[in-house]
Amino acid sequence: MDYRLGLIPDDKIAEIRDRTDIVSVIGEYVTLKRTGVNHKGLCPFHNEKSPSFNVNAQKQFFHCFGCGKSGDVISFISELEGKSFMETLRELAKRSGVELPEERRSPKDEERARAAESERAKMVRLHDLVAKFYREQLASPAGNAARAYVESRGLDEATCEKFHVGFAPAGWEALSRHLEAKKVPVELAERAGLIRRRENGTHFDTFVNRVVYALTSPMGEVIGFGGRVINADGAKGAETKVDQPKYKNSPETIIFKKGENLFGMHLAKHAIRRTGRALVVEGNFDVMTLHQVGVDYAVAPQGTAMTAEQVKLLKRFSREVVLMLDADPAGRAATMKVVHLFVEAELPCRIAQLRAKDGKKQDPDELARKDLPKLEALIESAQDCVEFYFEQVASTSPPTVPGRVQAIEEVAPLLRTLRDPLARDLYCDKLASLLKVDAALVQRALRAAPAQERKMRDVQPQAAAAVAAEPIRQVAQRRISLTHYSLLAFLAQHPDYWAKVDASSLKDDQVRSLVASAQESRTFDAPWLLNACPAEISDAVAKALGSDEFAGDEDANKTFESIVTSIRFPSDLSSLMQERSAAIERGDRELTEKLNARIIAVRRSSR
Ligand SMILES: [Zn+2]
Repeated sequence: MDYRLGLIPDDKIAEIRDRTDIVSVIGEYVTLKRTGVNHKGLCPFHNEKSPSFNVNAQKQFFHCFGCGKSGDVISFISELEGKSFMETLRELAKRSGVELPEERRSPKDEERARAAESERAKMVRLHDLVAKFYREQLASPAGNAARAYVESRGLDEATCEKFHVGFAPAGWEALSRHLEAKKVPVELAERAGLIRRRENGTHFDTFVNRVVYALTSPMGEVIGFGGRVINADGAKGAETKVDQPKYKNSPETIIFKKGENLFGMHLAKHAIRRTGRALVVEGNFDVMTLHQVGVDYAVAPQGTAMTAEQVKLLKRFSREVVLMLDADPAGRAATMKVVHLFVEAELPCRIAQLRAKDGKKQDPDELARKDLPKLEALIESAQDCVEFYFEQVASTSPPTVPGRVQAIEEVAPLLRTLRDPLARDLYCDKLASLLKVDAALVQRALRAAPAQERKMRDVQPQAAAAVAAEPIRQVAQRRISLTHYSLLAFLAQHPDYWAKVDASSLKDDQVRSLVASAQESRTFDAPWLLNACPAEISDAVAKALGSDEFAGDEDANKTFESIVTSIRFPSDLSSLMQERSAAIERGDRELTEKLNARIIAVRRSSR
């Protein structure tokens, strides 16, 4: 990315970067832990199990030693959110209180700018507009029944505001007409799946006579809607003779992908990071109620079964997940799928199951409103997900030999997924005792049955895909010599010395070209250097730029001289002496003196 292409002056861009805390911005996407001068976390750009993603607050850059991605806070957001450089810059400017020069545009320029706006930005703007419209409709007289429904769910005004709860009116054309009046291009609204085209070319609304709420990105942008029908009669119209589904979501668009987001994540993420725990419930309305009563770390899988993507999103923020399942037993296959996702991702997961009360099914929603302490106790006492699954298998398997064989075979692939051998042994014991068989039997079954692996893959394509998605670095990394490393680490702390480096004296071709291009463009900040740096040495350069070895150096001049000298002159004595003889012959006194000093230093260090 070249900043110099923008219309915004460089110093403004620098100001925005300086006033933005890169750790707190990236921390909204990735759970970061402090390690020395750096912050570390799981890379959001590739799939990984142990953190190799580093953020350096002082130098304002990030670098992943797993996949090699690096940059500053601006490139981080625009990459991850798929936003343009300008969009990201404006957003960060607003956040950091930096005033950007408002471009004065003629109507024609304005139109051109709009045309150039990314499809994504257009979509987000449209969803914003529609969310406002639905909110207004809920407050209007037409929204009476919807308001009554919302009240019956116990949701207060503040909660409705937070989750953009609104009303999609009956009549099939309310939104279509509103968008027309607002001059929204119909094609855009069609692509967003919010209106649909009839055969005769006119349009009708997707959400009709429903209480609607926003589906959002982890950043809080509205990217789709979900809606619950208010009463079946009102929703039936001329367009359809079939019954409307009780719940309905926006179709997939370029900004809304099923199974990639979690309902409520943008509101829950702060609490999840703070407590280290996420609560996953099944219903979106459950999430709203839970937040209202203070269980603000609750999210829902947005109407789908849990996916590997969603588990990955959870892992970015939490250390542990509690899954709250409905009273009706989910069934072995469904439980196995979800347990496998968490084991595969190595994200600890516990399961809390709501019990049916007097034959009546209980919702987290209801429990939260009626008996919060009981709900909290349920979360605290939730059971480890693997054990939960074992118990389910054991209790539903016939106590016969074939029944036990089948049970062990079913569980074996999951056990084999566990990377920790101790945990695997303990789980084997647990399973053996539940099935009333010898633990050695389970161990043996685990070593055999490789065919099960294949079966597991079939059942769990997403988990398999996640493993395959482990990154392959495009370019193999090489080391740079300690002296070159020291030079870069020194320069990172003492930027005034950049101009003093004699690039031609550097022995490492790639470091030399990096230093030369930095001098040429007079840019010495870490994100720029990492961007300009040859791919093979990006890890080494990132390490050097992020190091604080030379911070608070008393005599920077002396250090600089000694680093430069040690690069210029080899450290083996015989070649040093040869060079000294040549210097004496040439009568180069300055060089002779430097070589003398170097020879003394090398002799001393080799003693
Ligand atoms: Zn990475």
